[in-house]
Amino acid sequence: MKKHNFSAGPSILPQEVFQKASEAILDFNGIGLSLLEISHRSKDFVAVMDEARAIVKRLMNLGDDYEVLYLQGGASLQFLMVPYNLLSVDGKAAYTNTGTWASGAIKEAKMIGNVDVVASSKESNYNYIPKDFTVGSEYDYFHCTSNNTIFGTQMKSFPKVDTLLVCDMSSDIFSRELDFSQFDLIYAGAQKNMGPAGATLVVVKKSILGKTGRQIPTYLDYAVHIDKESMSNTPPVFAVYASYLTLKHLEENGGIAAAEVKNNAKAKLLYDEIDSNPNFQGVAAVEDRSFMNVTFTLTDESKQEAFDKAWKAAGISGLNGHRSVGGYRASIYNAMPIESVQVLVDVMKSI
Ligand SMILES: *Cc1c(COP(=O)(O)O)cnc(C)c1O
Repeated sequence: MKKHNFSAGPSILPQEVFQKASEAILDFNGIGLSLLEISHRSKDFVAVMDEARAIVKRLMNLGDDYEVLYLQGGASLQFLMVPYNLLSVDGKAAYTNTGTWASGAIKEAKMIGNVDVVASSKESNYNYIPKDFTVGSEYDYFHCTSNNTIFGTQMKSFPKVDTLLVCDMSSDIFSRELDFSQFDLIYAGAQKNMGPAGATLVVVKKSILGKTGRQIPTYLDYAVHIDKESMSNTPPVFAVYASYLTLKHLEENGGIAAAEVKNNAKAKLLYDEIDSNPNFQGVAAVEDRSFMNVTFTLTDESKQEAFDKAWKAAGISGLNGHRSVGGYRASIYNAMPIESVQVLVDVMKSI
């Protein structure tokens, strides 16, 4: 039986994507070869890369001033590539510290240059999004994390800053409509909401590059990847293809607008249960609750064994909270059907 997969990442993808991706491993496009054994420079794969880059711009409604890259190294390597490419030798960058991943981004940036943490919710174990700060033009860029996968908080709006706006969108990219043109650089590890592990999406406004006065190692230089159309070295062909299939599936099913309607309904169903069921309480501040990663705990620890047994028996997988938060985390990414959320809600009602 296929399980109800609430894993935080790598995570659920549309069933159709699993099907098509497996077919391509056996025989890609009917060419008598596997996707995994053809040159990344063959016309069949180049077409995949071109379309995978184009579909991102269509979904995000972005023009030709933006470039789309598929890189390796995960969002974690972007923690380093962003300051390498945007932080000038004498300049400084502004960061918000809203969780484990934001802290990781800050740590890497500090290896490259000057960093100010302009807001943080660390003192309360990252259970809210700090909003009371300003970022002036003395900074080369401002970096934020749109959705804090581990703690279950999400930025509902983005601050107007007097500098470049850079965002780690790993865990809520393509989940809701945003004015994507307000960002100068967006990055995301694919494995949360857009594909398998191994590919990292970068969307960057071309005009912001080349201004730091730094020598940038070849792989870390966005300009190199733009120039070579994400083929500077061998790209992660399978991860790019499966990400492309996922985005195509999204586009064919109403795009981000339709996904957002479904995501809102799933989140409402689950948070309503958390708020009305005396056995549970939410972890994140109500106004900052993530619509992708729902964190909650039992109010009475003695019910843990019964609850754990019940959700496992219902075919639910991946519900345990991250070790730094405890409790439970239900990740309800784009591909999660509302029926699976209903199964979880029914189990919550039953204990
Ligand atoms: C998972 C995650 C990361 C780390 O991604 P990798 O691709 O594993 O490097 C970074 N930021 C956020 C918000 C994440 O959810």
